[in-house]
Amino acid sequence: MDRVNLLDLDAAQVAALVAGLGEKAFRARQLTRWVHRRGAAQFEAMTDLAKSLRSKLDSVAQVRAPAVIRDAISEDGTRKWLLDVGQGDAIETVFIPEDERGTLCVSTQAGCAVNCRFCSTGKQGFSRNLTTAEIIGQLWWAEHALRASRGITAEHERVISNVVLMGMGEPLQNYEATLRSLRLMLDDDAYGLSRRRVTLSTSGMVPQMDRLAHDCPVALAVSLHAPNDALRDNLVPLNRKYPLRELLAACQRYLTFAPRDFITFEYVMLDGLNDSDAQARQLIALVADVPCKFNLIPFNPFPGSGLKRSTSERIRAFALRLQDAGFVTTIRKTRGDDIDAACGQLAGDVQDRTRLAQRAVRRLLPLVAVDS
Ligand code: SAH
Ligand code: SF4
Repeated sequence: MDRVNLLDLDAAQVAALVAGLGEKAFRARQLTRWVHRRGAAQFEAMTDLAKSLRSKLDSVAQVRAPAVIRDAISEDGTRKWLLDVGQGDAIETVFIPEDERGTLCVSTQAGCAVNCRFCSTGKQGFSRNLTTAEIIGQLWWAEHALRASRGITAEHERVISNVVLMGMGEPLQNYEATLRSLRLMLDDDAYGLSRRRVTLSTSGMVPQMDRLAHDCPVALAVSLHAPNDALRDNLVPLNRKYPLRELLAACQRYLTFAPRDFITFEYVMLDGLNDSDAQARQLIALVADVPCKFNLIPFNPFPGSGLKRSTSERIRAFALRLQDAGFVTTIRKTRGDDIDAACGQLAGDVQDRTRLAQRAVRRLLPLVAVDS
């Protein structure tokens, strides 16, 4: 029988495992701290656990994160890892350092079924949901690799202060594994991040937004991209199932539980499609009742998209309209350009599917964290 991967288990499940081995409850917390806080992958390193427990654990459990295929560091400090999740699927995790914070952008699926018109992940289709171990394994790996490269040994000195679920995939279409991962991110024995510093981005899965509000209300970003249903139907096909009126009502409901008193609306800037002054006015009217901020994302082109990025002047003019109407509006900065190029160079010597993942990271890299 396969040994259980501890990265797949949240605190309650580790407690059940430890109880099943006939051990006291506090051992579960010790184990969680060894794995997540200290990044231990070998039980023999867990020196304050009895030898007998260590060997029991060794026979039933393991700590296994996805294997790293590539590790690239940009001149601006942005770092990305290409991770192998088996059977030709690869995913990307991106670390974006800033003065006051370090943000990790995490993937939740290999591919994505939502198929937004402007998204390279969507264009590659859906392969599968990531497991909890593959989602939290990105944070586990990145946090401890970053600490090691900075010579940090103290377990409380965290490098990653913020997590955004904005990598490949629609997190709310992989609800259970995402939820378990979120709980681990917040768990004081694991990563101890505050709810305000963990942001889930969704294309608008209304029922799951309600579930999340009850189960684990972290900060929420909603990918809006259009000021009316006709255009949003075209850009984000999920809108046909959950149109704007329902989506905005779900945002209102979420705010009752949210750790922040606003929703972040993401809006990818597409030349001639959704970036006119008239559309800005329509957008302002649309969200009038929802406490929100805007994050405008300059479209990152990929081959065959048939779409263009709005000009910088247009993006600034659009932002100004929103700001004049009283909405805090930021324009997402581009980061990691130089490893973006390296990314294309790597494509030749990894498996076919990983090339798709690298295309996806080209749009991941221009990402900086939403508000902290
Ligand atoms: N599936 C979720 C989270 C992952 S996508 C969602 O859609 O919200 C994270 C963000 O990147 C979304 O706002 C998405 O619209 C944006 N995005 C996707 N493709 C992009 C591209 N080519 N250029 C710029 N932003 C893009
Ligand atoms: Fe999926 Fe988000 Fe890409 Fe849309 S933008 S296809 S929901 S990953």
